Amino acid sequence: MSAPEPAGTARSGAVRTAAITGSASGIGAAVRARLEADGWEVIGVDLAGQEVSADLSTPGGRLDVVAAVTEWATRQGEQPALDAVVACAGLGPQVPSRQPLVSVNYFGAVAVLDGLLPLLSARPGSAAVAICSNSISVTPMPDLRLVELMVAGDESAALELAPELDGPTVYAMTKLALGRALRARVQPWADQHVRLNLVAPGPVETPLFQGTLDDPVLGPLVGLLPVPMGRPSTADEIAGPIAFLLSTDAAMIHGSVLFVDGGSDALLRSDHV
Ligand code: NAD
Repeated sequence: MSAPEPAGTARSGAVRTAAITGSASGIGAAVRARLEADGWEVIGVDLAGQEVSADLSTPGGRLDVVAAVTEWATRQGEQPALDAVVACAGLGPQVPSRQPLVSVNYFGAVAVLDGLLPLLSARPGSAAVAICSNSISVTPMPDLRLVELMVAGDESAALELAPELDGPTVYAMTKLALGRALRARVQPWADQHVRLNLVAPGPVETPLFQGTLDDPVLGPLVGLLPVPMGRPSTADEIAGPIAFLLSTDAAMIHGSVLFVDGGSDALLRSDHV
């Protein structure tokens, strides 16, 4: 892990601050650009090319991220505080090994969110957002053992089971587990005065989605998902709803999964309300 720039002693207390994982690419980069355009100060986390270089697939990498963000968020003589965390880092269903899906998409996201809760709790009106997926709506998951192992926090058992399943199933299960685990946190997070929500995109034009399109098996299946709006989202069209969920306009939105998928979830599960 590379050390970030020292704590922002020059930062004004009025400037809102956010930590964003996966900020080097795709949705994370778009969220970063959106928040910075709105006047936020951002610390980005990714494998490389951001303020914090760390591997969220490992317990040590996750701890490094929490330590580096805490250092950045500490003004001289003050308690460390942060206005927002956005957990975007993730891998797509086409990756050759299933285990990194479990370790990055689920355990990496949860560890960063839980690890940074004390910083969020120190700032009134703070909030976090994680990226789910509308794959949870369309992926058959008759056996939820892997989801249950993830939600229970048993990473070694989840890593052992994941290779028995195919990539799209494991991918969707990491997102379902993330949704369940975070929705289960509504009371303890509210007790800490921090809101927590998820955004569930459909296909979004990013390098991850391009990787799915380029996959010889999964690529041809992408077009089978009906999108009422008739096209994939841009990353900016996901960043906007995330910025809204972090804003005071969303002050009572807590524990929600906001589908930002051009209508696919509603089309396929219109009775799911
Ligand atoms: P992306 O590949 O453009 O960006 C993901 C980022 O995560 C990359 O910068 C990558 O380096 C980083 N990352 C991956 N592994 C990491 C690790 N071990 N440690 C630290 N950083 C790591 O992808 P994206 O499409 O912007 O995806 C962002 C999130 O959105 C993911 O969680 C993804 O599952 C989710 N999502 C994407 C789509 C889509 O169609 N693009 C749809 C639904 C959900």
